[in-house]
Amino acid sequence: MLRIAIQSKGRLNEDSLALFREIGIDVDDSKRRFLSQAPNFPIEFLYMRDDDIPQVVANGTAGLGIVGLNEVEEKGFDLTVVTKLGFGGCRISLALPKTVDYPGLSWFNGKRIATSYPNILRKFLSENAIDAEVEVITGSVEIAPAAGIADAIFDIVSSGSTLVSNGLREVEKVFFSEAVLVSAGRLSEEDKALLEEILFRIESARVSKDKKYILMNLPESAVEEAVRILPAMRSPTVMPLAAEGWCSLHSVVDAAGLWEKLRALKAIGAEGILVLNVDKLIP
Ligand code: ATP
Ligand code: MG
Repeated sequence: MLRIAIQSKGRLNEDSLALFREIGIDVDDSKRRFLSQAPNFPIEFLYMRDDDIPQVVANGTAGLGIVGLNEVEEKGFDLTVVTKLGFGGCRISLALPKTVDYPGLSWFNGKRIATSYPNILRKFLSENAIDAEVEVITGSVEIAPAAGIADAIFDIVSSGSTLVSNGLREVEKVFFSEAVLVSAGRLSEEDKALLEEILFRIESARVSKDKKYILMNLPESAVEEAVRILPAMRSPTVMPLAAEGWCSLHSVVDAAGLWEKLRALKAIGAEGILVLNVDKLIP
């Protein structure tokens, strides 16, 4: 049984659960116990605060974890990022009151910076030879300048609206993060095989997301032109229709630029064009 630690509540919880559901692993989170077993896959979920996830994976309590790269970096345990997951995107930035002139990094010399990420901040400061004081606070870092606790902050930013509403301006983007799947690299052979299966499913889900299945009726004389418009995985499927001189063409295409492709297909005589979502795609 492979155990995986995920955030019990907060920004990563829903997307983590949605990821498992998308790859066909059911999660029963209705009772929100701290451990729950998937009914249709040998996996057990351990619900934790995100701060504790790097530690429980590092010490082997859980074989895998889903957590922000920011927490992995801050906590400093020896963990391997198995794959990035494409959600929970954010950055950790330096910000200061918007009325203050900012000439560049040297401004921070001798200043006090409030943060919940002292390790990432200290590393950045030392790499840039900046001598500043780090004030560790665990919540509401953005109020620190107005409260007189610090001159600037080093905090998580995604849209930037929290900074704006606190009269702050982002001046340096230091660390880019997203949710990642981590392991301490000590899985049993059995758990390794389960991880392989999970990665295979995640990859298929990822590939299918940007794809559409498209089918249409087409004059046979227009097939060559249609193939140019719709480069398929290998080549599109062409089937004859009962009507003389016509065929049905099926293909899987990138969702990007779909409307342009549809217009081009209409222009060469395609009829009855049908576009469907792709649920799973195994390349
Ligand atoms: P917990 O109670 O589990 O400790 P938390 O309050 O520390 O939760 P959340 O605010 O739920 O954490 O954020 C979890 C993670 O989501 C962050 O560590 C970060 O990786 C990511 N994230 C993405 N966007 C943001 C954002 N705008 N603010 C904070 N975190 C964000
Ligand atoms: Mg936390």
